[in-house]
Amino acid sequence: MRGLSFVEAWAGSLAGAEPAPPEALRKRGRRLRMTALVGLSYGVDLAVIALFWRGGAAPLSLLPIYAAAAAGHMLVFGLAQRLGLSERAANPHLTGLQMAWAISLQFAALLWAPALAGYFLGVMFVIFSFGALRLPLRTALLMWLAASAAVVALMAFLPLLPAPLPLGSPWSRLGAAVGFSTLLLRCIVLNFRAMALRADSLRQATRLAAEAAEARRRASRDALTGALNRDGLLPLLEAELARLHLHGAPCCVAMLDIDWFKSVNDDWGHPAGDRLLRALVDLLQHHLRASDRLARFGGEEFLVLMPATAEREALDIAERLRELVAASPWPQVAPGLRLTLSIGVAQAQRSEGMERWLARADTALYGAKALGRNCCCVAAAVAA
Ligand code: GH3
Ligand code: MG
Ligand code: MG
Repeated sequence: MRGLSFVEAWAGSLAGAEPAPPEALRKRGRRLRMTALVGLSYGVDLAVIALFWRGGAAPLSLLPIYAAAAAGHMLVFGLAQRLGLSERAANPHLTGLQMAWAISLQFAALLWAPALAGYFLGVMFVIFSFGALRLPLRTALLMWLAASAAVVALMAFLPLLPAPLPLGSPWSRLGAAVGFSTLLLRCIVLNFRAMALRADSLRQATRLAAEAAEARRRASRDALTGALNRDGLLPLLEAELARLHLHGAPCCVAMLDIDWFKSVNDDWGHPAGDRLLRALVDLLQHHLRASDRLARFGGEEFLVLMPATAEREALDIAERLRELVAASPWPQVAPGLRLTLSIGVAQAQRSEGMERWLARADTALYGAKALGRNCCCVAAAVAA
């Protein structure tokens, strides 16, 4: 890990932590940048307090107190995030704890310099905007209840609120102006950050959906040839059977088996056999109708699904495919190599299920083998 210091390595070994993967490092960087923004906001507060002190409206002692509390915030949360310790929490941003720290500081500062109560209550808006980025609604509401109770208690027991800001000197007026405008600015920055987070999660959701679609596509494809596999084919067969039952739409399958394929492997080697399977699928895909689907059913056995096609037309198509393959050269495997297919065609019948339909196509295929190969056979209809 780049920039891993001794202290971090030591803390990591104490925590028994594995080196964080890049995605975790990216998220850690994002959390640290957010905490740095909190530090920047504290810096603005200090500048505003300094202006009020210059205007005689705030005690000088508030500056070191506020600075120490702000530095403590940076140290505790910055270190917990930098070392990855916060990653064990449900919310690694530690939003709730950071908010509690910042809100307590506002109340302490408000008690220390009651004249600036209006400003410190304004900062509370920024803190809650920060919380809205990550906090669950329940925790945010609890925080709101606690802060409101504290404000009510202050109103009841100390005559501080509502307190207008002191505007008696030019410095104080500048402090009030800078304080007000930077409060607005901080709210704007946080709102834009919230929009960026939403856009980020939308992008992530789109990427995940695309990955899931690709995984589904790959799961339904044969890795060697790219044709559909059984998992990809079965839902299509079911849909065609449903169409047959509902609308009487005819549908055929053609079961294709390469003749003497074992001898191709024996003569030219298994890799050549693989190349031949890929080339055959390319050729068949290229000559099938757009509505027909090709699947690899077994080792050197394929199935063509022909929706809206009756037996006669299916047999013509099967015959055309058989002639095409028989006439094709296979230079990518071996010059002079010839290949033939045996094909069994079966039209789906209303009275049968998928298994029976495919079994009839298989029987027809073995009929073609028995007739001497390189030919097509039509399955006998099932007895009613
Ligand atoms: P038949 O005409 O009776 O169908 O003879 P055949 O040799 O084609 O049939 P057989 O069932 O005896 O052999 C099929 C061969 O297909 C055996 C097996 O090694 C080969 N095969 C199955 N899957 C693959 C594959 O993915 N790649 C390669 N190269 N060969 C495969
Ligand atoms: Mg074969
Ligand atoms: Mg076979």
